Amino acid sequence: MSVRRVVIVGASVGGSRVASGLRQAGYTGSITLVDPDPDAPYDRPPLSKQILAGDWAPDRASLGSAGQWRAERHTAAAAALNPASRVLRLDTGDELEYDRLVLACGASPRTLPGMPRRGVHLLRTLADCHALRADLDRIGSGRLVVVGGGFIGAEVASTARSRGIGTTVVEALPAPLSGLLGEEVAAELALLHEDNGVRLLCGVSVAGLVGDPVVTGVALTDGRTLDADAVVVGIGVGPNTDWLAGSGVALDDDGGVLCDEYCAVDADHTVYAIGDVARCRDPLLRRHLRVEHWTNAVEQADAVVRGIVGPAPVAHRHAFFVWSDQYGGKITLLGRPDPGDDVTVVRGAGPLRRFAVAYRRGARLGAALTVNWPKALVAARRSLDAPSGADDVVAAWKNL
Ligand SMILES: Cc1cc2nc3c(=O)[nH]c(=O)nc-3n(C[C@H](O)[C@H](O)[C@H](O)COP(=O)(O)OP(=O)(O)OC[C@H]3O[C@@H](n4cnc5c(N)ncnc54)[C@H](O)[C@@H]3O)c2cc1C
Repeated sequence: MSVRRVVIVGASVGGSRVASGLRQAGYTGSITLVDPDPDAPYDRPPLSKQILAGDWAPDRASLGSAGQWRAERHTAAAAALNPASRVLRLDTGDELEYDRLVLACGASPRTLPGMPRRGVHLLRTLADCHALRADLDRIGSGRLVVVGGGFIGAEVASTARSRGIGTTVVEALPAPLSGLLGEEVAAELALLHEDNGVRLLCGVSVAGLVGDPVVTGVALTDGRTLDADAVVVGIGVGPNTDWLAGSGVALDDDGGVLCDEYCAVDADHTVYAIGDVARCRDPLLRRHLRVEHWTNAVEQADAVVRGIVGPAPVAHRHAFFVWSDQYGGKITLLGRPDPGDDVTVVRGAGPLRRFAVAYRRGARLGAALTVNWPKALVAARRSLDAPSGADDVVAAWKNL
């Protein structure tokens, strides 16, 4: 069947990349982008980095416009899907017919009980970023509590410290990111916070927010209360799939859209899911993964473009890659650490804390973390998954 109508739900990095990719591939049919965020499409990584810090004007994060891809744009939310009749209904009541539908509707931050509350922030949208910046301006050199020490919490803490704000990070795990990196490596990474004057409280959770209507503190499960002029909550995200209830689209326990290695939701490859919302099958690991990182959304968008315009679909396999900018430096993670990996840490010289970690899977390099060491990342890329990659990369790092 020839494809004449593509509808894309979500106009962020994944959705806009599908639109631009289709045009680049010569697709001449209609493209319709649906997204309720009036500022979309824009990139999210600068929201916790350059834009929050005030180093970039917000329009530097723009990902272009629907006009540029000859696409129709609806500033509305998808509200219901009928895959049998290939109709998407919007919250405006409009109905869109499609030949191919791409679900790129991402994820939304989890909240704490008692939210919304003045002075308590999430950070997902450009509007969130503006609101947080305004509040950081308001509190001057006051006290910020960041709940959650993952990548976004750490970047917010880093930006707040650069503005002279007294910052405390509260993390339920024994060390931030210990679930992903393992405890030993996570403890090393945590030192970055201490080096930069951030108070890091680990192994404790939030019992509740204090102060109403404006937040004045955060009560912890160990009985302490932290005074706060503002609070940022960065405790993870959940897929935006409530609106798919009753559609027959299969979801995992977390609400992620289940799809195959082509990002296809159905056997006919009529509906696809990509990016933060999608739990796609990894053909080598033989399990489904939901990945909440930028490069994954981009790669899956490219895979879907190939699926739609042909000639033959290409299975997507995510080469796990994450970066994070913190305290004037850069952290990168290449490959996904496994709890069974052996770990070798190599330290480098330089003004910033600098080290690299090889996650050894037998003789192979299963994953590598680099901290403030770009050349170590280059060496890791060469060695990842190579038969004797683990020893090779450690030797290369020692010679840098
Ligand atoms: C502050 C911040 C910093 C980040 N930094 C990094 C980083 O340094 N490195 C990295 O790898 N990743 C980073 N990420 C993660 C990365 O931005 C995401 O993985 C990426 O944005 C996912 O893209 P997506 O297109 O799948 O979904 P999203 O970016 O979540 O976009 C989904 C879009 O769908 C729209 N939508 C939702 N529901 C509906 C609906 N019912 N109908 C229509 N539209 C809908 C939303 O409005 C949104 O515009 C960061 C994320 C944030 C929030």
